[in-house]
Amino acid sequence: MSKDKRAAAIPGDVGQAGAAGFGVSAASDYAPDYAPDHIGDRVGVIDIGSNSIRLVVYDGLTRSPLALFNEKVLCGLGRGVEKSGVLNPDGVARGHWRANRGGVDLNRDWGIFSQPETRAVKTWLDRLPAGVRPVAMVDFHSTQHSLFYVQGADETTPAEEAFLAAWLGGKEKALPGYPFTIERRNANPGSGTSKNWFHAAYGVPAYTYEAGDEADRAGIDAAARNLARAFLTALPLLAR
Ligand SMILES: [Zn+2]
Repeated sequence: MSKDKRAAAIPGDVGQAGAAGFGVSAASDYAPDYAPDHIGDRVGVIDIGSNSIRLVVYDGLTRSPLALFNEKVLCGLGRGVEKSGVLNPDGVARGHWRANRGGVDLNRDWGIFSQPETRAVKTWLDRLPAGVRPVAMVDFHSTQHSLFYVQGADETTPAEEAFLAAWLGGKEKALPGYPFTIERRNANPGSGTSKNWFHAAYGVPAYTYEAGDEADRAGIDAAARNLARAFLTALPLLAR
């Protein structure tokens, strides 16, 4: 997780960091192609972006789901990103490559919530309507090689393993221009990473999506589109 230039790490869309690719476009473009057993169960998609955070609740996993709730709040963390190319220009200007302006690595602040950026997300999560909660979390980063950090094999459920296999399994060398590895990492208590915090707090798959610093740009983009669709197709495996 070196050199976390988060904005630059977002495949395909520098202006919308976070889980944007998996978020609000779900209804029109990426609905699962089959009817799972859970039609009728409401499904929420949370898009944690750098500029905004959105929650959409659909009436079910149907081909044309109806959005029952769709609300966005602006946090503006990506302000100026189109000029600077980085999510955190004030922090970088002060010599903090992977930290915010306060000099704190935001991916060591989950659970502590000492920083306004992480605290804003936590506050938003705490205010979710009753019965609405995350079902999965993806944190976008960049590092030397393209990889996914996922939960350790002994700290996941069968449903989470099924989701992982359906989403990423067998694709390590299958996406043109985007070879990656899947790296299991057990939670290190107190590490303060979003991956470990979301998994502990919500019992959901929580992965770090690390795009290689030197990865082929077209490959990053194509893989992101492929994986965004596959993510939504795999989501019903997590339905409870
Ligand atoms: Zn990282």
